[in-house]
Amino acid sequence: MAKPVMISTMSNIAHSIENTALLARSLAAVWHPCSQMKHYEHFPLLPIARGSGVWLYDYDKKRYLDAVSSWWVNLFGHCNPRINAAITDQLGKLEHVMLAGFTHEPVVQLSERLRELAPKGLGHCFYASDGASATEIALKMSAHYWRNSGKADKTQFISLENSYHGETLGALSVTDVALFRDAYGALVRQQATVPSPDWRKAAAGESAEAYALRCADALEQHLQRHHAQLAAFIIEPLVQGAAGMAMYHPIYLQRARQLCTAYDVHLIADEIAVGMGRTGTMFACEQASFLSEDGVENENKGITPDFLCLSKGITGGYLPLSVVMTRDEIYQAFYEDDMKSGFLHSHSYTGNPLACRAALATLDIFAQDNVLGVNRNKAAYLNKIATPLREHRAVRNWRNTGMIWAFEVETLRRDFAQQCFSLALKNELLLRPIGNTIYFMPPYIISESEIDLLVSRTSHIVNQLS
Ligand SMILES: *Cc1c(COP(=O)(O)O)cnc(C)c1O
Repeated sequence: MAKPVMISTMSNIAHSIENTALLARSLAAVWHPCSQMKHYEHFPLLPIARGSGVWLYDYDKKRYLDAVSSWWVNLFGHCNPRINAAITDQLGKLEHVMLAGFTHEPVVQLSERLRELAPKGLGHCFYASDGASATEIALKMSAHYWRNSGKADKTQFISLENSYHGETLGALSVTDVALFRDAYGALVRQQATVPSPDWRKAAAGESAEAYALRCADALEQHLQRHHAQLAAFIIEPLVQGAAGMAMYHPIYLQRARQLCTAYDVHLIADEIAVGMGRTGTMFACEQASFLSEDGVENENKGITPDFLCLSKGITGGYLPLSVVMTRDEIYQAFYEDDMKSGFLHSHSYTGNPLACRAALATLDIFAQDNVLGVNRNKAAYLNKIATPLREHRAVRNWRNTGMIWAFEVETLRRDFAQQCFSLALKNELLLRPIGNTIYFMPPYIISESEIDLLVSRTSHIVNQLS
């Protein structure tokens, strides 16, 4: 029998009976993710009745601007009519079929379109249902490639300091966030990390670029010593999300690509959070444009990783779907008569047609609405009106890449994140700080007046909490 949970009246939000009843039932029956359940005694869950655009509504018709895109997945708003229509159409045709031995139009079309959009050369799409599984697939595929290629010793991986690649056991082995990892350390074959090019760690007077190059030198030293055992280097391009939206100079990606090629180690680009336009280009890897010998920008913009992992925004935030894209040479190393050389990995819902249709509708919106161009203007607008916030006495390290903003708040409060979350709700905002880092990662359809509201209310919150 579940113990009845007392709902604290400390909540700043007055709840209706309907709201309160639902949250009590949730606490009795649902074990919520990434939570200390006991904390919900003091900071109650928020039952959400419906969503529309950037707004979430509770049962009391209070609204909250979803400034974190529901854990970084939503791109074009809640209940987007175009994505709704695509899924509804697909529902009448085929809801699901297994992808081993079968295929269907949505998964074929999605693979063809992703191949057109992704960095050149990533022609093969392997599907799963969530981000952590995409990480698992990339790691397994990399090691299995080396095994099939007669280099069975290459079974180790490296990631950046403070990296986050998911929380299943394989993904945890390349995740460097103590809170997520420490309790499970004994279960995980923990892999080595190399210094993060996060520009906040630069020495006084050192530019972000100089610091990124210094970190690339450290990467090279590691590769020199360990390349014979290394299968792959996995990296979050441009922004390390869970580290608190740590941002770094794209030169690091160029160097990482060069070094991985030179030392025969795969480069896995985990664009689960940063792909699908989040950093201002469709994929973050595009921003690492190579300069050729004579200093002219290569027409082939950006770098091509050996594996590109996508999830989160790929369905516009609608349905679980992930994909790992890879190069033909890697695909060919598995192409044999022998079953054992094939890539042996599957999930029940691999390539689900409804999720693929949501992804296709998402790609249609990108194409029809000039989303990347419009986002550039929205980002410029936010940066302009946020000047007073950026210059606030308690705000540090203001940073922006594409449609991601972050800054630290100088505060003595140890429970800053929780306080900020609660105060934000009172101000109609869904903010979910990481430590004392506040970030914005809004749906792309946010309007100028909604940006005004987001920035002015956040300034008010920072005033109150600093
Ligand atoms: C969210 C995330 C993952 C894990 O995705 P899930 O769908 O939550 O398993 C992996 N890598 C990065 C960079 C992420 O942001």
